[in-house]
Amino acid sequence: MRRSAPTCADGPSTRLEPAPGPSPAHPEPVPRLTPARPRPVRRPEGAPLSTQPTHTGTGQPTIDLHTHSTASDGVLPPAALVAQAAAAGVGTLALTDHDTTDGWAEAATALAPDMTLVPGLELSCATAAQDPAEPPISLHLLAYLVDPAEPALAAKLADLRESRVGRARRMVELLAADGHPVSWDEVAADAAGAVGRPHIARALVRAGLITTMDEAFTPDWIGTGGRYWAGKLELDVTDGIRLVRQAGGVPVFAHPYAWHRGRTVGPETIRAMAAAGLAGLEVDHPDHTAAAREQLRSLAAELGLLVTGSSDFHGPSRGSGVGAESTSPEALAAILAAGTGCAPISGAPG
Ligand SMILES: [Zn+2]
Ligand SMILES: [Zn+2]
Repeated sequence: MRRSAPTCADGPSTRLEPAPGPSPAHPEPVPRLTPARPRPVRRPEGAPLSTQPTHTGTGQPTIDLHTHSTASDGVLPPAALVAQAAAAGVGTLALTDHDTTDGWAEAATALAPDMTLVPGLELSCATAAQDPAEPPISLHLLAYLVDPAEPALAAKLADLRESRVGRARRMVELLAADGHPVSWDEVAADAAGAVGRPHIARALVRAGLITTMDEAFTPDWIGTGGRYWAGKLELDVTDGIRLVRQAGGVPVFAHPYAWHRGRTVGPETIRAMAAAGLAGLEVDHPDHTAAAREQLRSLAAELGLLVTGSSDFHGPSRGSGVGAESTSPEALAAILAAGTGCAPISGAPG
């Protein structure tokens, strides 16, 4: 049992619980729980906020605002994630697990001195396709500094998590019905938090049905719309933006133009999202081409949206390393100034 946990807003109902599942031994360090103020940042003369490149090359600590732990589909427990981020030179880290805030408390206990944790999450959303015959397009909304106890948000997160588990079960059932040696017990045992497609993908690899995790995410297996794929509940993105704002959070559209992942929205949807209260675009993301970054950067400038850059780190063996992309100190300061649902958390002084 931890002696204390970071709090978000007031009242006992908002106390954060430690993340479920295995947690590395890390008994002593207790984070400083007083709200951390945004650090003073130096803004280059005349530099407009939304068009700042995120890689400054100044040797300043990296600001990585999008990472996953075992509280959702990441490989590392929250404390190990924070330790890896520290080792990679990340000074400010946001933990943004899918539809859950369960990792926040453990992450806070592992903060190195002078490190800041920005509590966040990544909300599963969707928007109608332009062609009504097409299914909705999935999209992800990063939400920083929300109050996780805000009733409407808390209820929706619970619905999304339940749907996520139901969907994973359905995919395992479809696989088993076709004679593939994959069981729910095995898949669930592999997940410290919510069960997701990566856990099923790992089971497929273990069973020798495929050789790499990536193969699982194809139409032959559990890729979107694939043979053994099942859909899940997703929140209309406009409702998602309102929900995040209502909970005091700062909504940022995650990897908007990750074209190779599947269908993506166009600028018109992003304009509508901006009108609904979107705060920023995740422009610098490992899945974005140079062209995608350029288009998004100019769209952000046009719409007055913040520009962020983040790794979307899921684990050492998956995709880019933590801190592979970075957000500018100016954009971070704007996010910290706009978020009222909870405070960033600073590591204990060394
Ligand atoms: Zn995402
Ligand atoms: Zn993500």
